[in-house]
Amino acid sequence: MRLDRRASRRIALALVLLLAGMLTTVSLFAQTKTDCTVKVTLLQVNDVYQFAPVDLGTRGGLARVLTLKKEIEKQSPNTLFLLSGDTISPSVESITYKGAQMIDAWNLAELDYSTFGNHEFDFGPDVLRQRMKESKFKWVAANVIDKQTGKPFGDAPAFVVREFDGVKVAIFGLTLEETKTTSRPGPNVEFLNPCETAKKMVTEIHASGVKTVIALTHLSMSEDKEVARCSGVDVIIGGHEHTLLESSSGGAPIFKMTADARELGQIDLNISKTTGAVESIDWKVIPVTDKIKDDPQFASLNRKYGALLKELATVVGRSSVDLDARSAAGRRQETNVGNFIADSFRAATGADVGLMNGGSIRADEIIRAGTLTKRDVLSILPFKNRVVKIELSGALLRQALEHGVARSAEDAEPGRFPQVSGIKFSFDASRPAGSRIVSLTVNGKPLDEKKNYTLATSDYVALDGGDGYAMLQTARVLIPKEQAKFDSDTIEAAIAAKKVIAPKVEGRIIRLDKEKKTQQTDCK
Ligand SMILES: [Zn+2]
Repeated sequence: MRLDRRASRRIALALVLLLAGMLTTVSLFAQTKTDCTVKVTLLQVNDVYQFAPVDLGTRGGLARVLTLKKEIEKQSPNTLFLLSGDTISPSVESITYKGAQMIDAWNLAELDYSTFGNHEFDFGPDVLRQRMKESKFKWVAANVIDKQTGKPFGDAPAFVVREFDGVKVAIFGLTLEETKTTSRPGPNVEFLNPCETAKKMVTEIHASGVKTVIALTHLSMSEDKEVARCSGVDVIIGGHEHTLLESSSGGAPIFKMTADARELGQIDLNISKTTGAVESIDWKVIPVTDKIKDDPQFASLNRKYGALLKELATVVGRSSVDLDARSAAGRRQETNVGNFIADSFRAATGADVGLMNGGSIRADEIIRAGTLTKRDVLSILPFKNRVVKIELSGALLRQALEHGVARSAEDAEPGRFPQVSGIKFSFDASRPAGSRIVSLTVNGKPLDEKKNYTLATSDYVALDGGDGYAMLQTARVLIPKEQAKFDSDTIEAAIAAKKVIAPKVEGRIIRLDKEKKTQQTDCK
């Protein structure tokens, strides 16, 4: 009896779900016809910003991934190593190397193919073109089009075909359309609709005689599901969410690992020699841990970047509490990290008050209580802004704070939201912008609009008028940029001086109206 391809795949999928991650031969069909199938193994990682291990060395590390890859290749010689995008940015190393360090690592790790993540464009299209030139692996991109040539960006192929023991597989790439606005691709790059592009790709690939189609994507899960439903791809190797996800839609499984190579996905496609189509799929998620040895091939990379890595791993101090450095939190409410930064700015300059715009506080994660390294500090403050001191009237200080909350009802995460020190205020975002502050005290006393105050903040806010704080450009500058310290150095010194920090949210900023539930932006 001959089983329909789709039906056999569904049976295989159901069994795999039952066996929850165990790699077993799940298709009876495949078991009885072993000689008639070719196994092609896809090894998957996505959203890898560091080649060195993460989580204090316990997880990830591309030197360990290479060890695993070589072991797997002994069992399954037809192996392709795939990256589903996001690697050039953001990271502390990329402040210095703009992603070149990752390309070095991928070249050593013997990566075969990558697609563009949204973050590949963070340094602009020219830097990405340069990174592509340095890559020994191929980038595939079907929906990222250079308007000047009408072809995929950087002359990347839309899809590639590989042949193993007489069966062919095709891989095409898809990237989030929102990259246009969330990153810096410039005016000459356009992002086509993923589903429409996928349909065209599958038709073209099938017409060329290749039955097995792999989509290498950097999309949201809902878009991946749509692509699976609308196009007829066999499997989606995806990323972007930083969450371990295994789904299925339109008969095609979708896989996403978390990030930073904490896991390696192994997806075995059992492909019929007679039809060239996928008969069944087996998979497992392999944790990448410190039990796995580094591949010696990586020693040269560690030599090249070792000094920086060592420097970044330098312990600065400790935090006895979790540090909330999530972007969404720092742009809508008082956070303990915001308080610590504003306090440190103020103390370092001897100012009456301190202010930090939430948008300049990065990392976008909760840094767990424990050891703090230089890497942690730079991940929170990566911009190398300077801590300046200005003198301004109470009236102007009020105006600046009004500006800080002027978009708090209209915008889910306004970068201008102020984190403060020496200031306590309440605001009602249901009132018109410009008159939202209800109460305001400076060092325990009501703000005196006629009195002058000194304020510590970044040069970006005070001198460049960043995040719309142009009103501060009229204030008198007491510590100019030339004499000012870097923000990250200021924080590092504050942590080192205290040895153990424990910043708290203490009611410096109270929002009186109820914040409307806003949709979380899906922008990793
Ligand atoms: Zn992403």
